[in-house]
Amino acid sequence: MKQLLLLICLLSLAFTPQEAAVNYSEDELMGTFDPKTHPDFALIPQHLTSKSNIYLRKETLEAFENMHREAKKEGIHLTIISATRNYTYQKGIWDRKWSKSKYMGWQGMDKVEDIMKYSAMPGTSRHHWGTDIDLNSLENSYFTHGEGKIIYYWLIECAPDHGFKQVYTNKNLGRTGYEEEKWHWSYMPLSKEMLHQYKEKISAKDIPNFPGSEHIDSLKIIERYVNGVEEN
Ligand SMILES: [Zn+2]
Repeated sequence: MKQLLLLICLLSLAFTPQEAAVNYSEDELMGTFDPKTHPDFALIPQHLTSKSNIYLRKETLEAFENMHREAKKEGIHLTIISATRNYTYQKGIWDRKWSKSKYMGWQGMDKVEDIMKYSAMPGTSRHHWGTDIDLNSLENSYFTHGEGKIIYYWLIECAPDHGFKQVYTNKNLGRTGYEEEKWHWSYMPLSKEMLHQYKEKISAKDIPNFPGSEHIDSLKIIERYVNGVEEN
Protein backbone atom coordinates (compact mmCIF):
# COMPACT_ATOMS: atom_id res chain seq x y z
CA MET A 1 0.00 0.00 0.00
CA LYS A 2 2.81 2.34 0.97
CA GLN A 3 4.50 1.68 -2.34
CA LEU A 4 1.29 2.33 -4.24
CA LEU A 5 0.86 5.71 -2.50
CA LEU A 6 4.44 6.61 -3.27
CA LEU A 7 3.87 5.71 -6.93
CA ILE A 8 0.72 7.87 -7.05
CA CYS A 9 2.67 10.77 -5.51
CA LEU A 10 5.46 10.43 -8.03
CA LEU A 11 3.02 10.20 -10.92
CA SER A 12 1.10 13.26 -9.80
CA LEU A 13 4.37 15.18 -9.52
CA ALA A 14 5.33 14.14 -13.03
CA PHE A 15 2.01 15.35 -14.42
CA THR A 16 1.75 18.63 -12.52
CA PRO A 17 1.27 21.20 -15.27
CA GLN A 18 4.28 23.48 -15.52
CA GLU A 19 3.83 27.21 -16.05
CA ALA A 20 4.25 27.18 -19.83
CA ALA A 21 5.49 30.33 -21.55
CA VAL A 22 2.86 31.81 -23.86
CA ASN A 23 3.72 31.44 -27.49
CA TYR A 24 3.28 34.86 -29.11
CA SER A 25 2.55 34.94 -32.82
CA GLU A 26 4.58 37.00 -35.29
CA ASP A 27 1.49 39.16 -35.78
CA GLU A 28 1.33 39.88 -32.04
CA LEU A 29 5.04 40.70 -31.93
CA MET A 30 4.93 42.98 -35.00
CA GLY A 31 1.58 44.60 -34.27
CA THR A 32 -0.21 43.28 -37.33
CA PHE A 33 -3.54 42.75 -35.56
CA ASP A 34 -6.43 44.79 -34.17
CA PRO A 35 -6.40 45.06 -30.35
CA LYS A 36 -10.15 45.85 -30.45
CA THR A 37 -10.92 42.29 -31.53
CA HIS A 38 -8.02 40.44 -29.86
CA PRO A 39 -9.32 38.28 -26.97
CA ASP A 40 -6.33 39.04 -24.70
CA PHE A 41 -6.80 42.80 -24.90
CA ALA A 42 -9.17 45.10 -23.02
CA LEU A 43 -10.32 48.69 -23.43
CA ILE A 44 -8.65 51.06 -20.95
CA PRO A 45 -11.35 52.62 -18.71
CA GLN A 46 -11.74 56.34 -19.23
CA HIS A 47 -10.62 57.33 -15.70
CA LEU A 48 -7.13 55.92 -16.45
CA THR A 49 -6.45 57.69 -19.71
CA SER A 50 -6.72 61.02 -21.49
CA LYS A 51 -7.33 59.19 -24.79
CA SER A 52 -10.31 57.18 -25.92
CA ASN A 53 -10.55 53.73 -27.46
CA ILE A 54 -7.08 52.60 -26.43
CA TYR A 55 -6.23 49.07 -25.35
CA LEU A 56 -3.82 46.97 -23.30
CA ARG A 57 -3.28 43.30 -22.67
CA LYS A 58 -5.63 42.35 -19.84
CA GLU A 59 -2.79 41.48 -17.43
CA THR A 60 -1.02 44.78 -18.12
CA LEU A 61 -4.25 46.67 -17.51
CA GLU A 62 -4.94 44.86 -14.26
CA ALA A 63 -1.43 45.60 -13.00
CA PHE A 64 -1.77 49.25 -14.02
CA GLU A 65 -5.15 49.56 -12.28
CA ASN A 66 -3.54 48.36 -9.06
CA MET A 67 -0.62 50.74 -9.45
CA HIS A 68 -2.95 53.63 -10.29
CA ARG A 69 -5.00 52.94 -7.14
CA GLU A 70 -1.92 52.82 -4.91
CA ALA A 71 -0.52 55.98 -6.46
CA LYS A 72 -3.80 57.83 -5.99
CA LYS A 73 -3.75 57.09 -2.25
CA GLU A 74 -0.48 59.02 -2.11
CA GLY A 75 -1.75 61.89 -4.22
CA ILE A 76 0.07 60.74 -7.37
CA HIS A 77 -2.00 61.01 -10.53
CA LEU A 78 -1.00 58.65 -13.33
CA THR A 79 -2.62 59.07 -16.75
CA ILE A 80 -2.04 56.82 -19.74
CA ILE A 81 -1.46 58.96 -22.81
CA SER A 82 -0.56 56.10 -25.16
CA ALA A 83 -0.82 52.31 -24.94
CA THR A 84 -1.16 49.67 -27.65
CA ARG A 85 -0.37 50.98 -31.11
CA ASN A 86 -0.67 48.43 -33.87
CA TYR A 87 1.41 48.30 -37.04
CA THR A 88 -1.00 50.46 -39.04
CA TYR A 89 -1.08 53.14 -36.34
CA GLN A 90 2.71 53.15 -35.96
CA LYS A 91 3.13 53.34 -39.73
CA GLY A 92 0.90 56.43 -39.70
CA ILE A 93 3.27 58.07 -37.17
CA TRP A 94 6.31 56.99 -39.21
CA ASP A 95 4.92 58.24 -42.54
CA ARG A 96 4.01 61.62 -41.01
CA LYS A 97 7.52 62.05 -39.63
CA TRP A 98 9.17 60.77 -42.82
CA SER A 99 7.47 63.41 -44.95
CA LYS A 100 8.29 66.36 -42.65
CA SER A 101 9.69 69.28 -44.60
CA LYS A 102 12.70 69.58 -42.24
CA TYR A 103 14.07 66.40 -43.85
CA MET A 104 14.22 67.87 -47.38
CA GLY A 105 17.57 66.84 -48.86
CA TRP A 106 18.50 64.45 -46.03
CA GLN A 107 20.02 61.03 -46.73
CA GLY A 108 17.66 58.14 -45.88
CA MET A 109 19.93 56.72 -43.18
CA ASP A 110 20.27 60.08 -41.41
CA LYS A 111 16.51 60.53 -41.54
CA VAL A 112 15.92 57.10 -40.00
CA GLU A 113 18.35 57.82 -37.16
CA ASP A 114 16.84 61.22 -36.47
CA ILE A 115 13.25 59.92 -36.39
CA MET A 116 14.36 57.00 -34.26
CA LYS A 117 15.61 59.19 -31.44
CA TYR A 118 12.07 58.81 -30.07
CA SER A 119 9.89 56.95 -32.62
CA ALA A 120 9.95 53.31 -33.64
CA MET A 121 9.68 51.89 -37.11
CA PRO A 122 6.39 50.06 -37.65
CA GLY A 123 6.90 46.39 -36.82
CA THR A 124 9.60 47.16 -34.23
CA SER A 125 7.74 49.05 -31.50
CA ARG A 126 7.16 47.78 -27.97
CA HIS A 127 3.82 49.58 -28.19
CA HIS A 128 2.69 46.74 -30.48
CA TRP A 129 2.79 44.32 -27.58
CA GLY A 130 0.07 45.63 -25.26
CA THR A 131 2.60 45.75 -22.43
CA ASP A 132 3.97 49.28 -22.72
CA ILE A 133 2.45 52.61 -21.80
CA ASP A 134 3.32 56.28 -21.97
CA LEU A 135 2.41 58.23 -18.85
CA ASN A 136 1.43 61.86 -18.26
CA SER A 137 3.75 63.73 -20.69
CA LEU A 138 5.96 63.06 -23.72
CA GLU A 139 8.57 65.56 -22.46
CA ASN A 140 11.44 64.46 -20.24
CA SER A 141 11.50 67.98 -18.79
CA TYR A 142 8.01 67.47 -17.31
CA PHE A 143 9.50 64.80 -15.05
CA THR A 144 12.39 66.90 -13.79
CA HIS A 145 10.57 69.53 -11.76
CA GLY A 146 7.37 70.22 -9.81
CA GLU A 147 4.57 67.67 -9.88
CA GLY A 148 6.23 65.69 -12.69
CA LYS A 149 9.36 65.18 -10.62
CA ILE A 150 7.32 63.87 -7.67
CA ILE A 151 5.48 61.50 -10.01
CA TYR A 152 8.73 60.29 -11.57
CA TYR A 153 10.34 59.59 -8.20
CA TRP A 154 7.22 57.72 -7.12
CA LEU A 155 7.37 55.61 -10.31
CA ILE A 156 11.06 54.82 -9.90
CA GLU A 157 10.42 53.75 -6.33
CA CYS A 158 7.07 51.96 -6.62
CA ALA A 159 6.37 50.93 -10.22
CA PRO A 160 8.66 47.86 -10.07
CA ASP A 161 6.47 46.48 -7.24
CA HIS A 162 3.65 46.42 -9.81
CA GLY A 163 5.82 44.95 -12.58
CA PHE A 164 6.47 48.21 -14.44
CA LYS A 165 9.88 49.50 -15.42
CA GLN A 166 11.34 52.40 -17.39
CA VAL A 167 13.08 50.62 -20.28
CA TYR A 168 14.49 53.62 -22.15
CA THR A 169 16.82 54.86 -19.45
CA ASN A 170 19.73 57.29 -19.62
CA LYS A 171 22.08 56.14 -22.40
CA ASN A 172 25.16 57.09 -20.36
CA LEU A 173 24.74 53.70 -18.72
CA GLY A 174 25.67 52.02 -22.03
CA ARG A 175 22.25 51.32 -23.50
CA THR A 176 21.86 51.71 -27.31
CA GLY A 177 18.91 52.89 -29.43
CA TYR A 178 16.24 55.40 -28.40
CA GLU A 179 16.96 58.42 -26.24
CA GLU A 180 15.81 58.39 -22.63
CA GLU A 181 12.01 58.34 -22.19
CA LYS A 182 10.94 59.02 -18.62
CA TRP A 183 7.30 58.54 -19.68
CA HIS A 184 7.56 55.06 -21.20
CA TRP A 185 6.88 52.18 -18.77
CA SER A 186 6.81 48.50 -19.60
CA TYR A 187 5.01 45.65 -17.86
CA MET A 188 8.01 43.34 -17.54
CA PRO A 189 6.30 40.05 -16.58
CA LEU A 190 4.94 39.96 -20.13
CA SER A 191 7.29 42.18 -22.14
CA LYS A 192 10.45 40.37 -21.12
CA GLU A 193 9.13 37.17 -22.70
CA MET A 194 7.83 39.08 -25.73
CA LEU A 195 11.26 40.59 -26.33
CA HIS A 196 12.81 37.16 -26.00
CA GLN A 197 10.41 35.72 -28.59
CA TYR A 198 10.80 38.76 -30.86
CA LYS A 199 14.53 38.15 -31.02
CA GLU A 200 13.93 34.48 -31.85
CA LYS A 201 11.19 34.90 -34.43
CA ILE A 202 11.52 38.29 -36.13
CA SER A 203 14.22 39.47 -38.49
CA ALA A 204 14.47 42.40 -40.90
CA LYS A 205 13.01 40.35 -43.76
CA ASP A 206 9.72 39.90 -41.84
CA ILE A 207 9.08 43.63 -41.72
CA PRO A 208 7.06 44.92 -44.69
CA ASN A 209 8.54 47.62 -46.91
CA PHE A 210 7.97 51.30 -46.24
CA PRO A 211 10.14 54.38 -46.77
CA GLY A 212 13.30 53.86 -44.72
CA SER A 213 12.78 50.12 -44.12
CA GLU A 214 15.67 49.35 -46.48
CA HIS A 215 18.00 50.52 -43.69
CA ILE A 216 16.80 48.02 -41.04
CA ASP A 217 19.78 45.75 -41.57
CA SER A 218 22.53 48.30 -42.14
CA LEU A 219 21.49 50.34 -39.10
CA LYS A 220 21.03 47.18 -37.02
CA ILE A 221 17.57 48.37 -35.97
CA ILE A 222 16.60 45.16 -34.17
CA GLU A 223 19.92 44.79 -32.40
CA ARG A 224 20.38 48.44 -31.39
CA TYR A 225 16.78 49.59 -30.88
CA VAL A 226 14.45 46.67 -30.14
CA ASN A 227 17.14 45.14 -28.00
CA GLY A 228 18.43 48.46 -26.65
CA VAL A 229 16.50 48.37 -23.40
CA GLU A 230 17.23 48.35 -19.69
CA GLU A 231 15.78 45.07 -18.44
CA ASN A 232 17.22 44.52 -14.98
ZN1 LIG B 1 6.25 54.92 -25.53
